[in-house]
Amino acid sequence: MRCIERYKSGLPGKYRVEIPIGNYDETIKCIIIKGEMDGPWILVDAGVHSAEYNGIKAVMELSQSLDHHMVHGGIILIPLINENGFQHRAGSNVFADGKNLNRVFPGKEFGSLADVMAYTISTQIFPYVDYVVDIHSGDAYEQLTPFAFVLGGCNQQVNDGSTMLSQWIDVKYLAKSMLTSGGLYNSAGALGIPSILIERGGMNDWNDAWVNQDKADVINILQGLHILDGEALTYDHILFEQVEYVRAPKSGLWLTNVSAGQTIVKDQLLGTITDPYGDPLSKIIAKNDGVILYQTHSLNAIEKGALIAYGIHHE
Ligand SMILES: [Zn+2]
Repeated sequence: MRCIERYKSGLPGKYRVEIPIGNYDETIKCIIIKGEMDGPWILVDAGVHSAEYNGIKAVMELSQSLDHHMVHGGIILIPLINENGFQHRAGSNVFADGKNLNRVFPGKEFGSLADVMAYTISTQIFPYVDYVVDIHSGDAYEQLTPFAFVLGGCNQQVNDGSTMLSQWIDVKYLAKSMLTSGGLYNSAGALGIPSILIERGGMNDWNDAWVNQDKADVINILQGLHILDGEALTYDHILFEQVEYVRAPKSGLWLTNVSAGQTIVKDQLLGTITDPYGDPLSKIIAKNDGVILYQTHSLNAIEKGALIAYGIHHE
């Protein structure tokens, strides 16, 4: 019997469970809360990207404060999926293979550590949950304005379920994602699980305000789903059906003219990439009106690397 199944069918309680990652000498550390009462099961995870710290701390704190006596159904909490990257301060990649874990889902049974890590989540956790909440922030070099990704490329019921989860998240913007693999939450969606990805914080930083906002969003979702008692608050959002993801055309010094959360207009100069002499190598111009969701905020742009992403306002 798979590990999670045993806890799901067992006695109510709060359990620490380490799931081995294939034959690697690594595990995924989970906290499984089986409630006293019946209800849905949810996965709440962070640390897919190991330099996105506030989510990691938020899920760790939730695992300490939540208790099976208050839970209908069950909660699987994973504070830090990519512990390998975290231990080596490897930015957001898995240290052992340099891969971005959020690009390899649903993973492979036999492969490098990131592949098998994704496969372990896909096969040993996803089959036992009804919902997924995946908490991220900007990467170590990224500044962002809080928003959430909702599913748009899965079947209608799953897309609608993702939108339902989004109503309980206290952010101004939503961005629709049409992907059905690569990312943890996209891959869960492809398997029929309504999922959402919360983005808050960035730049290698964390603070109590961000941690508390992440925790409040999760508690609110749990109340919305009646996994916890209490009245959930609902929020209005601006939804971006389309996001422009700009990759750096050249490596160089990134001199940005904008900030995350800023409204931009078509043809606006968003920033310039220069060489170390200060001579311009490339100018980044907005193709549409929109809002900056996140951007590289360190000085270095890396050719073909993520540089800036903005939600597009259509007329
Ligand atoms: Zn991330």
